[in-house]
Amino acid sequence: GRDVTEQRQGQDMLVQALEKERTAVERLRALDEAKNEFVSTVSHELRTPVTSIVGYTEMLQDGTVVAPLEDQLPLFATIARNGQRLIVLCNDLLTLAGLDSESITWEAEEVDLGEALASAAAAVAPMLHERDLTVLWETAEEPVRVVGDPTQLERVVMNLVTNAVKFTEDGGVVRARVEVQGDEAVLSVTDTGIGIPAEEQSNLFQKFFRSSTAQKEAIQGTGLGLSIVAAIVSAHGGTIRVRSEHLEGSTFTVRLPVKY
Ligand code: ADP
Repeated sequence: GRDVTEQRQGQDMLVQALEKERTAVERLRALDEAKNEFVSTVSHELRTPVTSIVGYTEMLQDGTVVAPLEDQLPLFATIARNGQRLIVLCNDLLTLAGLDSESITWEAEEVDLGEALASAAAAVAPMLHERDLTVLWETAEEPVRVVGDPTQLERVVMNLVTNAVKFTEDGGVVRARVEVQGDEAVLSVTDTGIGIPAEEQSNLFQKFFRSSTAQKEAIQGTGLGLSIVAAIVSAHGGTIRVRSEHLEGSTFTVRLPVKY
C-alpha cells in the first residue's frame, strides 16, 4: 500500500516538475520572439533616418547644392562613413532577427558552391583595390552541389572571404576553396592574417563578439557577421569550424551535406 502511494506521489511531483519546465521553456521562447521583434522594429526605424542623413551628407559632399569649403570635406566624409556603419549595423541586426525567428522562409534549390564562390569573388574585387594581397579562388572541376538558399549560401562565402581579407595585412595570402569530400561539400577559407587568440576562439560565433586583437588594431566591424554565418550554416544542416593560430592566420571550414 505505502510503496504504491509513495510511487504515485513521486510521479505527481515529476509531472508537476515537467509541467513547470515546459511553461518556463515556452516563456523563454516567447521572450526570445519578443526580443527579435524588438530588434527588428528598432533597426527598421533607425535605418530610414540614417539613410536620409547619409544621402544628404553625400549631396553636401559632392557639391550638389553648394560647393563645400575645403575644410568641410573631411567632416562630411566622417559623417558619411559613420552613417554607413550604422546602416550596415541595422542591416545585420535585421538579418539576425530574421534568421532567428521561425517565420523565415528559405529557398531550397540545388546550389553549386563553385558558383557561389565565383559570385563572392566578383563582389569582393572592389575590396582588393589598393591592397597588396594574394587571393586564390580554388574550385573543383565538377559542381559542388548542395541544397539550400543561394542568396544565403553566397552570403556565407562572402562573409568568410571578407573577414579573411579584412584581418590579413598587406603581403598576405587568402585562399578560398570549395570541394567535395566524401558525402560533404566543403568550403574552406584560409588566411595568413592576425589570427584569434586560443582562449577567445570559442566566442567567435556569438553575436557582437570581436577579438581583442581586432579591437586593439581598431579594425572595424560589428561582430555580427560570423553569428549570421553560423545561423545560415546550421539552418542548412551543416557545421562550421575554425582553426587559428594567433598572429599566424586562420582557417574557417564549412561542411554541408552534398546533394547527389
Ligand atoms: P566583424 O568582422 O564585423 O567584427 P564577425 O562576426 O565577422 O564580425 O567576426 C567576429 C570577430 O571574429 C572579428 O571581430 C574578429 O575579431 C574575429 N575574426 C573573424 N574572422 C577572422 C579572421 N579571418 N582572422 C582573424 N580574426 C577573425
